[in-house]
Amino acid sequence: MKALVYGGPGIKSWTDVPDPVIQNPTDAIVRLDTTTICGTDLHILKGDVPAVTKGRILGHEGVGKITAVGSSVTNFKVGDRVIISCIKSCGSCSNCKIGLYSHCLGEEGASGMGWILGHLIDGTQAEFVRVPYAENSLYKLPVSVTDEEGVMLSDIFPTGFEIGVQYGGVKPGDVVAVIGAGPVGIAAIATAGLYGAAKIIAIDLDANRLEKSREFGATDTVLSGTATWKKDVFALTDGAGVDVAIEAVGVPTTFSMATEIVRPGGHVANVGVHGKEVPLHLESLWIQNIFLSMGLVNTNTTPMLLKLIEGKKLPAQKLVTHRFNFDQFLEAYDTFSRAAETKALKVAIAR
Ligand code: NAD
Ligand code: ZN
Repeated sequence: MKALVYGGPGIKSWTDVPDPVIQNPTDAIVRLDTTTICGTDLHILKGDVPAVTKGRILGHEGVGKITAVGSSVTNFKVGDRVIISCIKSCGSCSNCKIGLYSHCLGEEGASGMGWILGHLIDGTQAEFVRVPYAENSLYKLPVSVTDEEGVMLSDIFPTGFEIGVQYGGVKPGDVVAVIGAGPVGIAAIATAGLYGAAKIIAIDLDANRLEKSREFGATDTVLSGTATWKKDVFALTDGAGVDVAIEAVGVPTTFSMATEIVRPGGHVANVGVHGKEVPLHLESLWIQNIFLSMGLVNTNTTPMLLKLIEGKKLPAQKLVTHRFNFDQFLEAYDTFSRAAETKALKVAIAR
């Protein structure tokens, strides 16, 4: 089969590799119909994620059909159309039992963590992929949900919702600010309304993304990087700051921005993946009664989000701005990596 193979920092190729086979009774093989690229894949290609070794097939998002199941997989059969979750979960370890799939202790990858696809084992940017712990890591896709909608549930939507909105404790009437209107920030914007946010303020450096965020439920937008950005945010609150500040970028500046706009008693929910040391000013924050959260997505809300997409309550499909086929994989990477110029949010790559 063909797959997108990591060849070390800065090197990737769409090339021939052996087909995956069932290795454990809990595995399934999925023939990909649609996959996509995540910002994390770009981090890997820069060499920021040293656990990814040369020869690894990248990708942790995808939708496809099952072509083989291991002997202990009983709730899926060959031919089932499924979403592949970015997090594998054995479903039976102590962490999975409490819904903390991100820290699944199931042996595969020997990592004690749920994100292994396209990281510690071969991923979904391929014609076929082996999915470990298939029973709990795959989700059946209803016929009314498109491949492109389904792919947004592998990672983006659960991340924005769980680590942004749920961890941020959004409640009815809240003013919520989302810093970073990339796919993950937009997923937080689109789901903040589920808990009754009264105002959702999108903050980004990119005016195009701010405009786009309104289509997903942002009620107000603030251009970042200006002299007045903070004043602009406070002008949209009662002057006290926002109830919940969601950081969806992953750099020290935006984390600090979140702590500067949160009101006393409010929440800062960090979603961004940080590669650099981030200052935390407890000396000024402690007296503000701030709740601070962070985490790796669990994807335990995937079934719920899938129902909302099925019921046309979440405009997941609108995140797809560019479409490619498997033969154009490198072109898809090029478009996605130049998002500011190409206006790309998510690229869908289909068979
Ligand atoms: P992205 O790069 O597409 O979007 C980031 C956005 O932040 C861009 O629109 C950019 O213009 C904006 N931005 C950059 N600097 C800014 C600034 N100073 N002020 C305001 N906006 C600024 O990324 P994404 O795919 O949306 O992902 C967002 C973050 O979430 C990344 O760090 C990603 O690694 C992380 N992530 C976390 C998890 C998790 O489990 N916690 C899962 C997936 C992704
Ligand atoms: Zn587990």
